[in-house]
Amino acid sequence: MTQTHSYGELKLFVDGEWLGAEGRVIEDVINPATGEAIGALPHATPADLERAVAAATREFKAWKAMTAFDRAKIIRKAADLLRERANEIGRRMVLDQGKPIGEAIPEVHISADILDWTADEGRRTYGRIVPSRVPGARWMVTREPVGAVAGFTPWNFPGVIPARKISAALATGCTMVIKPSEETPSTVLEIARALQDAGLPNGVLNVVHGKPADVSEHLIAADGIRKITFTGSTAVGQHLAVLAAKAGVKRATMELGGHAPVLIFEDADIDHAIRVMVHAKYRNAGQVCISPTRFYVHDSVHDKFVDGFAKAASALKIGDGLDPSSQMGPLANSRRVPAMERMVADAVQRGAKVKAGGERGSNRGYFFQPTVLADVPQDAIIMNDEPFGPVAVTARFTSFDEVIEQANRLPYGLASYAFTRSSQTAAMVSDALEAGMVGINNNFISMAETPFGGVKQSGYGSEGGTEGMDAYLVTKMTSLS
Ligand code: NAD
Repeated sequence: MTQTHSYGELKLFVDGEWLGAEGRVIEDVINPATGEAIGALPHATPADLERAVAAATREFKAWKAMTAFDRAKIIRKAADLLRERANEIGRRMVLDQGKPIGEAIPEVHISADILDWTADEGRRTYGRIVPSRVPGARWMVTREPVGAVAGFTPWNFPGVIPARKISAALATGCTMVIKPSEETPSTVLEIARALQDAGLPNGVLNVVHGKPADVSEHLIAADGIRKITFTGSTAVGQHLAVLAAKAGVKRATMELGGHAPVLIFEDADIDHAIRVMVHAKYRNAGQVCISPTRFYVHDSVHDKFVDGFAKAASALKIGDGLDPSSQMGPLANSRRVPAMERMVADAVQRGAKVKAGGERGSNRGYFFQPTVLADVPQDAIIMNDEPFGPVAVTARFTSFDEVIEQANRLPYGLASYAFTRSSQTAAMVSDALEAGMVGINNNFISMAETPFGGVKQSGYGSEGGTEGMDAYLVTKMTSLS
């Protein structure tokens, strides 16, 4: 293992205790900018997993009984600690995930904001009184935390995604065992550390690592676990949803894949659309489930849009995320580079034109150039499978109905975008798109206070907003007379 930058020790966090290697299986954590091992991650043993579930189950009663007001104080204090520590946490996120430091440090701040907002929203999980049919009776609807939750988070947003799940679970009175991606484990451990330093009782939050399939099978089947929350691919989500159903019809929230269409209408402000979408496309090297991917551009403005977009994409500086001048880092793991190469080669072979990039960015690390493919036929793999990388693809359209049909063609329905100056077109697009989120003339679709989630095979349930709290609550009706 080459220690080029200090990355720090990685541990399990179980029942308030930090557990190191001590005889456990160890997995290397790789810096995607160099391909070098930078850290050693201990895997949880079956006994560790059992201990984590036992702690979360045991602590649920007391944590649920604590007032939402007091739970919020702890979570908000952790948010402040994350802000104080953001530079160092962000630096370590660059080392294991690869994104530029200019994205990593803000991600820690956004994670802290999510903790703040959600902590406060936990104090507003109101019930209601239903007018009773019986004189003198009270019909009360109250909402209670579902119980101990098992969470599984991916490698693309190691701060924001765990922050959403942890804060909503804890703010509503649930406890949690979370398994972050083994490839990017440092940030969630720092969220756990901040919560512990803020006074979180032992066992309320537990962090475990291991072989994803083994850990999820164990946790989902565990008696004490009442709910599953997963962010990742549709294939894995389907598998986990089946496990959750078989394990006792356990509740589940599934944030799965996307293949976001972008509709550029004839009357769009093209320069604005290029500015917004280049940033959105290449952020985190395109490894974003809401990344704009299929650009359907009106035939009359297609070439202008594509030329401007390709020019801006080619001008992006790619490099090691620790270099503050890097605008796009490497892909997060070695699997993504051949995946991009396969998709680009397939599209080109079917007639797509390469307008920018199209190749690996360097022999060292997992870089791939910001890429634009124009006039990509519908049967190309990339028009159907989520690229999850820095590749934008374009196709032409001439009529509203035609573009809506194309946009809704895939089984995904997570994010979608449109650019138009017409308020009538904007309203029609918002109604017609089959998607959980629609950004019209902007890409502001992921905030702590708004629901984030998909339809069709992009999953079910929301995170963020009041809907994100619902995911951790069950409803009880009490009839009192
Ligand atoms: P993958 O499908 O094997 O893994 C996706 C995520 O799921 C990873 O974090 C992984 O640790 C986890 N995972 C895999 N099997 C699991 C299991 N049995 N139990 C619990 N967790 C499990 O593939 P990958 O190569 O890591 O990523 C490829 C694809 O995953 C991407 O193309 C993209 O479609 C999807 N993905 C989506 C998101 C998202 O934010 N929705 C994030 C990361 C990856």
